[in-house]
Amino acid sequence: MRSGSARRARLLEYSRSISRTVGMKAASLVSPGEISTHPLRIEEVPPPDLTPGHVVLRVRACGVCRTDLHIVEGELPRRRENLIPGHQIVAEIIGGGRPDLPLGMRVGVCWMGGVDGTCWYCQQGFENLCDSPTFTGYTVQGGYAERALARADFVFPLPESLDDLHAAPLLCAGIIGFRSLRVAEVGRGERVGLFGFGASAHLAIEVLKSWKCAVYVSSRGESHRRLAASLGADWVGNEHEQPPVELDRAITFAPSGDVVVAALASLRKGGVVAINAIHLDRIPQFDYDRLLWGERQLRSVANMTRADARDFLEVAAKIGLKPKVTVFSLPQANEALTAVKNDAIDGAAVIVP
Ligand SMILES: [Zn+2]
Ligand SMILES: [Zn+2]
Repeated sequence: MRSGSARRARLLEYSRSISRTVGMKAASLVSPGEISTHPLRIEEVPPPDLTPGHVVLRVRACGVCRTDLHIVEGELPRRRENLIPGHQIVAEIIGGGRPDLPLGMRVGVCWMGGVDGTCWYCQQGFENLCDSPTFTGYTVQGGYAERALARADFVFPLPESLDDLHAAPLLCAGIIGFRSLRVAEVGRGERVGLFGFGASAHLAIEVLKSWKCAVYVSSRGESHRRLAASLGADWVGNEHEQPPVELDRAITFAPSGDVVVAALASLRKGGVVAINAIHLDRIPQFDYDRLLWGERQLRSVANMTRADARDFLEVAAKIGLKPKVTVFSLPQANEALTAVKNDAIDGAAVIVP
């Protein structure tokens, strides 16, 4: 047993040393802009070196998130040159292993790639709001590559029941969707609206159904509405239709301020809208007396904590959460991003390098 694992460790070290001499394939952001005219460059780059407190990973799958698109298209300010996007990484540890994170272990890496641990927010337990956070695939290199480097205290061992492809979309879409339910303070059996039905919402609905909630889905995409119905939505409508009942909670996933107003308009008094969007065009003017008065609340959802990740992965394993995925190869990274942009796929896109 022991000699087997030592041999495996040597093999992993060997494969890592080989890969360092030959480089690795990655999709790099050369100049942010419209994806059709500013695609990622598929190229050979030097693989990451192991640094203290980190682990080197062999990427097995990486989910594609709408935030990647915002970064690639320059809607979020540029933070580094030749960025490798991707922050839903399923990977195997091939360097920097330690007793609790042995070589060969399968782990997940999320959008939160690290925090300072010293700012007021970290000290109060709000590490998602850290003043100096590290974001995977934004401030540090991400997972649209064959290898990646991650902070050892920000990787999450993955339950065995979740395979690579189906675990990847859980790592942002799933976790942030789960955090949105927490921010909206969803209680068991409540009436919950999901506005927009992409990668995140199609996972949140299954968590909500396991909590016996009634779920009302509004989406502009017909295939998204069909998917929502097949996943047990109690009501499905397009963006111009209003749910037939007043909602206790609503979560908006579409990157549009109009949708936020539509969600507000469907709330009961005292209800909460949680906005799950890192970027919104704007929120149009709305009527305070009718839409916000009555202690209705509007909240944003920012990032995630490690506790969100651990709790959600446990829930996902328990309820057998299985995202709907469409697989792309690494050279197809631009096609994957374009598909997300055009809402052309149901569920989540996943890149397999
Ligand atoms: Zn901090
Ligand atoms: Zn994301």
